[in-house]
Amino acid sequence: MAFAQIALDIPLSTVFDYFAPDVTLADIGRRAIVPFGKKKQTGVIIGVAENTALAAKQIKSVSAIDRDSPRLSAGVLNLLSFAADYYHHPIGQTIFAALPPAYRELQLPTPREQEKVYRLSELGREQALAAIPKRAVAQHKMLTLLSAEQPATLASLREACASATKLLRDWSEFGWLKTSDAAPPITTQASQPPALNGEQQHAVAQISAALDRFGCWLLQGITGSGKTEVYLHIVAQALMQRKQVLILVPEISLTPQLEGRFRARFPSAAMVSLHSGLGNNERYQAWRGAAEGRAEIVLGTRLAVFTELPRLGLIIVDEEHDASFKQQEGLRYSARDLAVFRAHAANVPVVLGSATPSLESFAHGQRGHYHRLALNQRAHQSAVLPQVKLIDTRVNKAKEGFTEPLTRAVAARLERGEQSLIFINRRGYAPVIHCRACGWMAGCPRCSTRLVFHLKRRPLRCHLCGHVEAAPESCPACGSVDLRPVGEGTQRIEALLNLQFPDARILRLDRDSMGRKDAWQTNLAAIESGQADILVGTQMLAKGHDFPKLTLVAMINVDSGLYSTDFRAAERTFALVLQVAGRAGRADHPGEVLIQTEFPGHPLFRAAVSQDYSDYAEILLQERQAAGFPPYVYQALLRVEAIQADAAQAFTARAKAIADGLRGNDITVYQPVEASIHRIAGKSRYQITAQSAKRTSLQHFLRTWRAELSAKDDRKVRWAIDVDPIEL
Ligand code: ADP
Ligand code: ZN
Ligand code: ZN
Repeated sequence: MAFAQIALDIPLSTVFDYFAPDVTLADIGRRAIVPFGKKKQTGVIIGVAENTALAAKQIKSVSAIDRDSPRLSAGVLNLLSFAADYYHHPIGQTIFAALPPAYRELQLPTPREQEKVYRLSELGREQALAAIPKRAVAQHKMLTLLSAEQPATLASLREACASATKLLRDWSEFGWLKTSDAAPPITTQASQPPALNGEQQHAVAQISAALDRFGCWLLQGITGSGKTEVYLHIVAQALMQRKQVLILVPEISLTPQLEGRFRARFPSAAMVSLHSGLGNNERYQAWRGAAEGRAEIVLGTRLAVFTELPRLGLIIVDEEHDASFKQQEGLRYSARDLAVFRAHAANVPVVLGSATPSLESFAHGQRGHYHRLALNQRAHQSAVLPQVKLIDTRVNKAKEGFTEPLTRAVAARLERGEQSLIFINRRGYAPVIHCRACGWMAGCPRCSTRLVFHLKRRPLRCHLCGHVEAAPESCPACGSVDLRPVGEGTQRIEALLNLQFPDARILRLDRDSMGRKDAWQTNLAAIESGQADILVGTQMLAKGHDFPKLTLVAMINVDSGLYSTDFRAAERTFALVLQVAGRAGRADHPGEVLIQTEFPGHPLFRAAVSQDYSDYAEILLQERQAAGFPPYVYQALLRVEAIQADAAQAFTARAKAIADGLRGNDITVYQPVEASIHRIAGKSRYQITAQSAKRTSLQHFLRTWRAELSAKDDRKVRWAIDVDPIEL
């Protein structure tokens, strides 16, 4: 072979040929450093060839091929090329979005010297003592350590002698040393698994019996039904077969409990977590551990779906409905969907778990594409689902967010020493400030949204672009000083509770209270040990935590979810209600959930009272089918943004005309519209929806549409195709 075909991290779908006389098929998937323009750049070899179409004087040579780092396997390259193709993103950028950022650097961080331990060999015992001069005290200290019963670690040898690293190299060349991998860390007693209940046993048995092949399992278990326990059991089996396990979770930092449970159950298994909160070096080391087969359990966020895993045997996607599995910029992939693709390609099982599965997955379950497994009971003997009650706010008027029955319920918990949670999905003090004289409201100068009022210096904040400003003394429109914050956010609810229950210990949990890195963990610990009486928080609290002392969950302002124009709003709101409700009554205290609403007759709230996810999911699916929405059709959005609204509009108009010229009968392309938030950070946003009942038709259409759009590229606009969008 003479040429390497290299994918580079640039916004072009092209692959570049470089001269590489020593390249072989075994180099596919390796990093290469190549000259590109005036600089050197890192790329990945995705093919090799005898020839190139390039003219002789255009050809440049590869500067170096990195044969030390793990290479991307055919399996992962296949996953990446599928992702590039399906999500219509350049292959080079897809690869580099999936790899740890350190891979982009020309110099890789040196891999951590794998923990090795040393002792003297027979030969070393015979020769070393005599060979090393008496005055080399430090070296003799090393010899003492190396002759001890416990093998010596590099750290202890370095302590004895500053030049230990170099000496070890010399001595092992003389044959004086025996090296071995460090013994696994002292294994603590593994946490004892509880005896599984019937439903759990059934689920474990079904999946275990098919561990050797692809199958997509939809584990639909109500909150607290012991899904995690099911994962732990099948993970144990996969580990026994010396397989690697990939577990995807929405946000690791929010669920330290989950990581803790895996570590406690498998104390001697090597486990790494992979998420964007890690430093570049840490992430690279974790990735490398997985790629070299050392890590047995990889727990990660969406980006971990691309991890190289030579012995992959099982994939689990926990809280599969969670929106954070879909990346919203760049490579707009769904890690859940790619997990299913990957499992299929690798012929291993994938388990999608949730109390509130996405309607897409639920529909696959109905049609039998996924195997449904249900857990309908709470796992803890005494734990039962909380009772859900609606408070009709037309009858019980809310004063500053709270109705009378809700206040009484909180007071009763305080009296009994139990915890309450007030859920409101809005951070800040009030969502708007408003002039009572003329109706003016503070808006973001860069976005088409209102500024949220916070109790902070420069209190007006935009939650979309981060803009902050001081609150005006008087109305900029009419001069009136009668400006008021309107509506409630977490800070205001916290303040009101402080007034009403001055002795209660109140803890607010939202993005703003998460300032310090470990604040979330500290807060969770405080809640668990009973140091808080009332929690006020956003949907961060909905994510899978066990709060054993929590007996009341109150939901304020859920109605706002019903006003959205997004056809997914009902699905999302319902899932959120059940997830938040599920925080109550987890241990042996029965729980109660109170939902304040103006629409107690709405089917969503009636379903919330019965807490039957499947029932309502079926109703929603019928509505989707009747209206021709996903999952009965496949959608893609062309998203366009530009500083000048005209430019974006003109581009979408042209894109629509092109689409009309291309599309077959089985594709619908809608008129361009403004995005639901039509201006963010100074950019106007427009979009076009294209859809089809056939995925392959849509894909085919998108490919040609994208090619034509790329040819007419307009520097004034930025555009991207979003396949299977979840936000409109
Ligand atoms: P989920 O993931 O479905 O929310 P978990 O696996 O976290 O549920 O289980 C909820 C609680 O019940 C946890 O405290 C867990 O330790 C406990 N649990 C799970 N399975 C059992 C069981 N079979 N017997 C007793 N307790 C269990
Ligand atoms: Zn005014
Ligand atoms: Zn803004």
